[in-house]
Amino acid sequence: MAEPEVVDVVVVGLGVGGEEVAGRLAEAGLSVVGIERDLVGGECPYWGCIPSKMMIRAANALAEARRVNELAGSAQVQPDWAPVAKRIREEATDTWDDTVAVDRFTGKGGRFLRGSARLDGPGRVRVGDQVIQARHGIVFGTGTRPSVPPIDGLADTPYWTNHQAIEVEELPESLLVLGGGAIGLELAQVFARFGVRVTVVEAADRVLAVEEPESSEVAEKALRADGVEIRTGVKADRVSHDGGTFTVHAGDDAFHAERLLVVTGRRAHLEELGLDTIGVDPGQRYLPVDGQMRVTDGVWAVGDVTGEGAFTHIAMYQAAIVIADVLDRTRHADRAPDPSGTASVVGGAMGAASAVGGAMTATGPSGAAGTLPRADYRALPRVTFTDPEVGAVGLTEHQARQRGINVQVGFAQLSSSARGWIHKAGNEGFIKLVADADQGVLVGATSVGPAGGEVLSALVVAVHAAVPLSHLRHMIYAYPTFHRAIEDALRDLS
Ligand SMILES: Cc1cc2nc3c(=O)[nH]c(=O)nc-3n(C[C@H](O)[C@H](O)[C@H](O)COP(=O)(O)OP(=O)(O)OC[C@H]3O[C@@H](n4cnc5c(N)ncnc54)[C@H](O)[C@@H]3O)c2cc1C
Repeated sequence: MAEPEVVDVVVVGLGVGGEEVAGRLAEAGLSVVGIERDLVGGECPYWGCIPSKMMIRAANALAEARRVNELAGSAQVQPDWAPVAKRIREEATDTWDDTVAVDRFTGKGGRFLRGSARLDGPGRVRVGDQVIQARHGIVFGTGTRPSVPPIDGLADTPYWTNHQAIEVEELPESLLVLGGGAIGLELAQVFARFGVRVTVVEAADRVLAVEEPESSEVAEKALRADGVEIRTGVKADRVSHDGGTFTVHAGDDAFHAERLLVVTGRRAHLEELGLDTIGVDPGQRYLPVDGQMRVTDGVWAVGDVTGEGAFTHIAMYQAAIVIADVLDRTRHADRAPDPSGTASVVGGAMGAASAVGGAMTATGPSGAAGTLPRADYRALPRVTFTDPEVGAVGLTEHQARQRGINVQVGFAQLSSSARGWIHKAGNEGFIKLVADADQGVLVGATSVGPAGGEVLSALVVAVHAAVPLSHLRHMIYAYPTFHRAIEDALRDLS
């Protein structure tokens, strides 16, 4: 067998997190091999955030146009999916071609391999019959894939995952959405606004079950107003497809539609990564990491595969931590005597490495000056891009109470704020604050409204920096903005 190729770092999976790590380390002068079996960039640009938000932008334009009738005369809206599909094909995904992304990575000095990679013992990665030895480390950014529930008959039907829903060129007449989480609701509302008859079937007793109950209520009401039928507390027990129609059976109920979209969660596939060859249990749900994203000595993980939150902003945040830690390790390895004689080509890169490492400490995740950043998820923001948007940060009221925090809650309806009242059509929403009364700080907050995700940013700062409630009460909120409702909710805290 040929000698393994020896490089500084191997990155397996070039989604959002892996691509960032691989590219930045290559730019810093390390020899980096990046391996991707599908498309460089991963789920977000091709089947996730970007195309779904393009769909949402188009659907919201339709909804705004329909609001003209209430606010500014009359408008007739004729939805047409063709420009949306074209935009996703041409502007977002280059017809699902990653040439630009591959060139971006190799342009930074990385070496790209297409294929499925797995560990082949400590420090070694195998892709087909190629083996690569990593001097300094291996980074896993292998993400997740849709998790399909073991419902009788489902696996034998041509159901959709988010991939087919994003790639669709011609809309079905009717759609069943299995799963009332963020992705299910976003896509359900989009398709409904384009005239598809949509039914959402959710096993939990409310949609958006991980968020505040008030968020579930507003989202459910908004989707119903768009014509979406929502059935909660319904556990599908059998699925069939007769060539033209799907039927989802749930006890005595049966739901029928032309298409079935399954969005019931996502799963990491650790069993594919050869983790047993380094003594890591591949039977776990996610790849556990410490505050520096280390799985074990010389192995890091980034993004969805860590189970810390399936968001692009988590993957990017963690990537910054991995980059700083890997560069720090290479810096120390470079200073140490080299017993193997294989270290290190990074000498010339050390200047760049320090520069990047320094920037990480200054601008990256929290950590005292001069120390390496460590992950801190207290102020993890999340946004469901329905209309109204549901933004949240930190703990929900229920989570805070479960942790034994002395909870105070403040609530304000958006429609009662000046801006909400002015906005009128489409002004559903609220601000909910969850405070730790003993500490006098916010530990969580929810912002639902037409710009709920944007208003959230102020609350993220408050939770992240533990801004005292007295400071928040005595700052100036611009009039008449949606974010002034934060001041109303602060007044309501008791
Ligand atoms: C419909 C939808 C909408 C979303 N909207 C948002 C949003 O608005 N905001 C947000 O923050 N997040 C959103 N997300 C989530 C976001 O897409 C993910 O959090 C993000 O893509 C995670 O990045 P990642 O790098 O961890 O993994 P991924 O993007 O999943 O990339 C992992 C890559 O690893 C590759 N890979 C896996 N195993 C191997 C192997 N053994 N060898 C080689 N390659 C391998 C895969 O092919 C894949 O390309 C959305 C997701 C979906 C599905």
